Parts: sequence; structure tokens; C-alpha cells
Amino acid sequence: MIDVKTVMRSHVGKVRQINEDQAWSGSLPSGITAAIVADGMGGHRAGDVASSLAVDSLVQSLQVWGEGTSLKDGASSLTDMIRKANKVVYETASLNEQYHNMGTTVVSALVDGSTGLIGHIGDSRAYRLRAGRLELLTEDHTLVNELTKSGQLSPEEAAHHPRRNVLTRALGTDREVEVDVQAIDWQSGDRILLCSDGLSGLVEASDIEATLEDSALQLEEQAQKLIDLALAAGGDDNITVVLVSDEGLVNATGGETA
Ligand code: CA
Repeated sequence: MIDVKTVMRSHVGKVRQINEDQAWSGSLPSGITAAIVADGMGGHRAGDVASSLAVDSLVQSLQVWGEGTSLKDGASSLTDMIRKANKVVYETASLNEQYHNMGTTVVSALVDGSTGLIGHIGDSRAYRLRAGRLELLTEDHTLVNELTKSGQLSPEEAAHHPRRNVLTRALGTDREVEVDVQAIDWQSGDRILLCSDGLSGLVEASDIEATLEDSALQLEEQAQKLIDLALAAGGDDNITVVLVSDEGLVNATGGETA
């Protein structure tokens, strides 16, 4: 297992009063590196309650995930952990009038340096940069994505659709929820980007790719540049990015990944 580095940045943006995005990244007792982004929704500050509850629940579950746990057979565990977070948010919303109907997106990446797992609900995204090319790993659970898939909207129309924020699936709004979990392989030099739609909705994928490809920038500078690009594009939503990388550490130890 190799060390994997994570960098996290979040910004309220230029229009919103509060930041309803939440993120967490770090190493787990099991040696696995985890990254999470959640983008909450609901009036009267309920959105940031939903995203905080979801991230806290997931981090708690991940912390007690046993040492020696293999990601290879972790897909059902990740699904269960996200379902548990769903239950926490749903029950809090049911018991408190002011949190009624709150919910959140979630996207989570677990990486051990040779393999990984991505789990998500909603429109927060996971991308992978490999060999200079950016690849979207997740599928948005949105109305416009459904309409695009069925050919009723072009990708261009979807990008500017007035109802592009409408989710078809969210964490915490229903008692049960379907979770998308996929296994990914990890090659040396790969990078994962998790982000809220405050980035992906405002910044072209080609600009995200160019930023992550820019080897003159440190990982922290790349994360900051992504935030700056979203602000320059209007910053009309909260913006959160988490980068996951093994670069530099591989060179620093002079070794190859096993
Ligand atoms: Ca958002």
C-alpha cells in the first residue's frame, strides 16, 4: 500500500450566503485513503445540516472499518455505509419540522494505491485524470441527465437548462435510496477529482483537464485554481473540490507502485 495525498478546498461562492457543501478527506485506520463531497439542499440552513450529517456519518463508519479491509470486496460495505448516512439524514428530517425535506448529494472515493471504489448519489461528481485525459466516472442523478440519455435534450441544452439542478435521487429525502458504487483500478500517476456542481456546472471539462494536467502547479495550487475558475465563471453556487493523488510520493521514495 502506498501513501496517497489529498487536498481539499471549499468556497461559498459569490452569490450564496452560506456554504452548504461539506467535504472530508484523509487516511483511515485501515490504511485506505478516503475523500467525500456532499452538497446539501433544503431551506433555512437545512442544506448544510444534511450535508454535515451525511459526511459525519460516513466518516464515522469508515473510521471503524476494520484494519486489513480490502477494497476488492468493499463495494457492499460502502453501499451500506452510504445507506446508513441516508437513514441518519432521513430520520433527522422526519423528526424536525425545520429540516423537513432536506437532503444532500454525496460522492465518495476510497483508494488504496492499486484499486479504488467510487460511491455516489446525486450530481456531485468523480473524475479521473489518467495520462493527461479527464474522464467522468459518475453519472448525474438529475432530470436533465435522464432527458439527455433519452435524446430529449442535447448536452448543450442540458448544460443551460433552467431545471438542471433537479435531482432524481438524493441522500436523506427518502427512507430507502439506491446507491451507485463502482470499483476502479488505480495506476501510478492517476488523480481523482471529487467536486460539487458549483465546479462542474460552471467550468468546462477541458479547463478542468488543463488545470489538472499543468505540472507546473502543485496539487494545492491545482485545487485553488479550480476554485478560482468557478469564481471567475460567476461563482453562483458553493464550490468544493477534493483531489486525490499519489504523484510526488512515488518519486520521493524512488520506488514503483506494486
Ligand atoms: Ca450545489
